[in-house]
Amino acid sequence: MRLKTNDTVQIIKGRDRGKSGRITKTFPEKNAVLVEGMNVVQRHTKATPGVRQAGIIQKELPLQTANVMLVCTHCAKPTRIGTKMLADGTKARVCIKCKEVIE
Ligand SMILES: [Zn+2]
Repeated sequence: MRLKTNDTVQIIKGRDRGKSGRITKTFPEKNAVLVEGMNVVQRHTKATPGVRQAGIIQKELPLQTANVMLVCTHCAKPTRIGTKMLADGTKARVCIKCKEVIE
């Protein structure tokens, strides 16, 4: 799982293909991420006792990481992620295209 919360990703498959948004939550065990404003479904709920919100509720569904691409913070393009060992021994994510480290 190479994606983190607050990363900007572009959707490459599905209804929101071509759009980009910010990751608000990650699900490493499912290889899925929740992207702000993406993959929104509408739930129609009836007003029943105990349910405060009736009507149409908009809900974001997680997207598979295979269907999103990280947008590089340097070249601003959707890219694949490589890893690089830094001088201090920590691993960093790098953009395959511009080779810059992605924070
Ligand atoms: Zn780049």
